[in-house]
Amino acid sequence: MGENMNFDYVPTTCPYCGCGCGLNLVVQDGKLAGVETWKRHPVSEGKLCPKGLACDEFVHSEERLTVPLIKKDGTFVESTWDEALALVAFSRLLQSTLPLIRDSISSATSYQSWRPTHSSCFN
Ligand code: SF4
Repeated sequence: MGENMNFDYVPTTCPYCGCGCGLNLVVQDGKLAGVETWKRHPVSEGKLCPKGLACDEFVHSEERLTVPLIKKDGTFVESTWDEALALVAFSRLLQSTLPLIRDSISSATSYQSWRPTHSSCFN
């Protein structure tokens, strides 16, 4: 190794499953260079499964998605974050309001056939 290489170790949690194993990301000259175990981590105690040991590999992968994709006419096309987030927000808004709209319509239609109860006729 060269004398001028600068390594940093960033403690973090493996992103792959709920076990929550601890690991150190090895950063060399500002770029992610590998993974090392976190020997005193209370969950993993210095051990990682193969997925955890390789969890840095996707970061610089040529196949990694760097922009959002939206399906249009059956094909995924590159999009902007603004467009993708607006689409998700609109979808969530529809999901949360459609039941309310349906209930409102249901209440309005059932109101037409509403009849007073016997006791309410005497109030
Ligand atoms: S190292 Fe393996 S077991 Fe641990 S959190 Fe990652 S995927 Fe799960």
